[in-house]
Amino acid sequence: MRRLRRTKIVATLGPSSSERSVIAALFRAGADVFRINMSHTSHERMRELVSTIRSIEDECERPIGILVDLQGPKLRVGQFESGPVALSKGATFTLDLDKSPGNISRVHLPHPEIFEAIEPGHTLLLDDGKVRLTATEVADGKIVTRVEVGGNLSDRKGVSLPDTTIPFSALAPKDRSDLEAALDTGIDWVALSFIQRPEDIAEAKKITRGRAHVMAKIEKPQAVTRLDEILDVADALMVARGDLGVEMPLERVPGIQKFMTRSGRRAGKPVVVATQMLESMINSPVPTRAEVSDVATAIFEGADAVMLSAESAAGKYPVEAVATMNRIAEEVEKDALHQQIMQAQRADPEATGADAIAAAARQIAETLELSALICWTSSGSTALRVARERPGPPIVAISPNVSTARRLSLVWGVHCVVADDAHDQDDMVDRACRLAFKDGFTRAGQRVIVVAGVPLGTPGATNMLRIAFVGAEAGREL
Ligand code: PEP
Repeated sequence: MRRLRRTKIVATLGPSSSERSVIAALFRAGADVFRINMSHTSHERMRELVSTIRSIEDECERPIGILVDLQGPKLRVGQFESGPVALSKGATFTLDLDKSPGNISRVHLPHPEIFEAIEPGHTLLLDDGKVRLTATEVADGKIVTRVEVGGNLSDRKGVSLPDTTIPFSALAPKDRSDLEAALDTGIDWVALSFIQRPEDIAEAKKITRGRAHVMAKIEKPQAVTRLDEILDVADALMVARGDLGVEMPLERVPGIQKFMTRSGRRAGKPVVVATQMLESMINSPVPTRAEVSDVATAIFEGADAVMLSAESAAGKYPVEAVATMNRIAEEVEKDALHQQIMQAQRADPEATGADAIAAAARQIAETLELSALICWTSSGSTALRVARERPGPPIVAISPNVSTARRLSLVWGVHCVVADDAHDQDDMVDRACRLAFKDGFTRAGQRVIVVAGVPLGTPGATNMLRIAFVGAEAGREL
């Protein structure tokens, strides 16, 4: 099965997409990676979903990526003694460490770390930013605030602190247990929520030890400020526009999306653009013009993947939402401006053999109008460096490691194939031609370029490129 687009699609699974038949239909419609959101999924359900996806993978003979999204340290207020309270603009409201139920003038905030870090002048956003407070006084387990934007506040509503860096880990005890359970099932990617600093990613990597790659969800201003350092340690980024739009003014989110997409591409690490991409399709079989334009903007910008959340997890039209994204991507990528933008934003190769070869391979493939750029890759690093070039001809990545192929299913333009390692260079070139032929990327009489690290199986040692003629024998069984 060959996709006719380079941008990948991530589809979140949930009540609307829990049946095997729906998940298979989502895959056929275009989902390359499935996301399991641990805020709403038990360990047992997660294991069932992983095994269903793996069985669809076997049936379709295509690697499929699985991304487990950890809830992260979600902050919440305590409870109220007699239902919701209505906070009015200008009123004084206190958050404290007293566990007793709250009222119109105070509520429990069960996170002592916040009291150590917050300072007068900092903002507190409650209930997805609907209520806004400013801290006026911080002392003795109390944060006294002034209500800037009033509204109703009820039990256990979320709290965001855009100005305060809180000294706690991005992995709460629930996240650690979810992560261990997910790693045991052999997932490919794990996403960390509400990270604030690079150390948060490093902490998760100590647990994953290469068993899954780590994606940094950027949804806090503190993480935006330290994006370069986070990008150094993370394997991928997600522009988590939902919470980002709560913690920062909404009008700043598009600029941050562009900044993150470009930074990720420069670093050669995949970037996923997420949240409300086709929101109206939760209830409607067709999207709005603005939503189509939003998805198209992410694709024109060169994002590796676009993501569906509630549209595929809880909406009425999950398969239509994936099919819509697929159609938008196919159409945008045909636009002459798309290739021009990909070229204009290309960063220079870094001074490594792998980058020099990736850049040369892209240039040769485009100059000679070769039918495909094929990389043999054991860890996936060669394919990532080639994808960073955003070449015109398709990229086929061949790996003996199924986990590499699954992870690469998130990466721009990479068609992954799992195959045994070749014995020598001639065998490698011969098999590269046959595999590309089999999946429809080349025909007899055309030429391809093959990139690899020789000896094979040495991760990161990309040192070879060869232009190969595809003979009639490429059509024979491997
Ligand atoms: C987001 O906030 O955009 C996001 C993807 O996070 P979640 O859906 O886990 O809240």
